[in-house]
Amino acid sequence: MPVPGRTIRPPLEPFKAKVIEAIRVPTAEEREAALQRAGFNLFNLTSDDVFIDLLTDSGTSAMSDRQWAAMMLGDETYAGSRNFAHFESVVQELTGFPYVIPAHQGRAAENLLFTQFARPGTTIPNNMHFDTTRTHVMRNGARAVNLAIPEAYQVDLDFPFKGNMDTGRLSELLRSASAGEVPLVMMTLTNNTGGGQPVSLENLTEVSRICHTAGVPLYLDMCRWAENAYFVRLREPAQQGRSIREIGRAIFDLADGATMSAKKDGLVNIGGFVATRDPALADRMKEELIVFEGFPTYGGLARRDLEAASVGLLEATDLAYLEHRIGQVRFLADQLDAEGVPFLHPPGGHGIYLDVRRFLPHLPVQQLPGQALVVELYREGAVRTVEVGGIMFGDGESPESAPALELVRLAIPRRAYSSAHLEYVAGVVAAVFRRRAAIRGMKMTYEPERLRHFTARFAPLSG
Ligand SMILES: *Cc1c(COP(=O)(O)O)cnc(C)c1O
Repeated sequence: MPVPGRTIRPPLEPFKAKVIEAIRVPTAEEREAALQRAGFNLFNLTSDDVFIDLLTDSGTSAMSDRQWAAMMLGDETYAGSRNFAHFESVVQELTGFPYVIPAHQGRAAENLLFTQFARPGTTIPNNMHFDTTRTHVMRNGARAVNLAIPEAYQVDLDFPFKGNMDTGRLSELLRSASAGEVPLVMMTLTNNTGGGQPVSLENLTEVSRICHTAGVPLYLDMCRWAENAYFVRLREPAQQGRSIREIGRAIFDLADGATMSAKKDGLVNIGGFVATRDPALADRMKEELIVFEGFPTYGGLARRDLEAASVGLLEATDLAYLEHRIGQVRFLADQLDAEGVPFLHPPGGHGIYLDVRRFLPHLPVQQLPGQALVVELYREGAVRTVEVGGIMFGDGESPESAPALELVRLAIPRRAYSSAHLEYVAGVVAAVFRRRAAIRGMKMTYEPERLRHFTARFAPLSG
């Protein structure tokens, strides 16, 4: 709870608007009709149905004037585009990984990596797998395990590095595994599924030591690495005063490679890459790339998009930018705290994760409380959010398959919304919180096999 009498101050924007996009609040009737049309799945809404879109921070960033200018430098050559050469040199400079393979987004990079490593009978640990990495591991027949520290699952606990890996469990897993059973270890920075929580450099150092002692490569899911580095700078005493890029290099020096969705800390609307130190692996991934994404100097992207990403990847390391970015999340968190709304603490790097179990304690998991909350937030004020819980991660069969955390994510797009927008969102959440006891559960009426949260349909349970 904030100190009584303290005013909650919005972070100062280190930019001003040059282009705007009109948005409006649909009427209550329009919202109700939209929910019906969408089968109560907010992925089925159109943008005109939505006022504030907190569905994701992925690919929703506002690009800078420099990025737009960079797009005019697009060299749309099939092979050997100078935009790729620039992109490659930026990624090499930031990460130190020598082999850089572009892909149209994070999951395409994951496809390249996991088809090389994941096999039936193998296990791939992560602090917490994101939905796409978990799906790529599983579709290749491997087992995805989450080894985050126990603190990660205590929603109320204010712990600085809830993204950390439980190194004891990792050591035990690697010790008891047969040769080749764990082909690689993954670490997600920041831990999206666990609330956008950072991993400390200290923990990564220990994870790296454990992996390399066991002869297992360590790969990073580095979508939000700059946000992670910001928290390291803020919260890890030995790292204060170092630049984001210096901390980044210290992080990447511990790993053998990474996958990245540039739609996050690349500040672009599309793009990604996989990078590695292993030349033979890079060659094999490039062969696959040509089949699925395109030639290795564009990887399924227009070359102008690579140029915008080259600029965005560097802009995301700017301290003033990160202070505003993380400051916006904290600004929303402070207002929700003042209203007593339960959410995962401390607030993460890219959004607020409402604690569904305490928000709607009267709804059992089978009644899809996360989906019920997402629907009510839309109904109240045309705010779009997403369930990160039983629907995204459970198997839908057994209550035991329910994930340890049942959350609703309010992801904040980068540089897109104002403080007034965030105040509006806080008001909407508070209004739903006040009428929470009357909120009823939902059921799934259509369930696809994989990544079901994207295309499932729902209906309210009748009282
Ligand atoms: C977004 C994301 C991905 C996948 O990236 P896409 O660009 O959406 O395919 C993977 N891991 C994490 C942690 C993410 O947040």
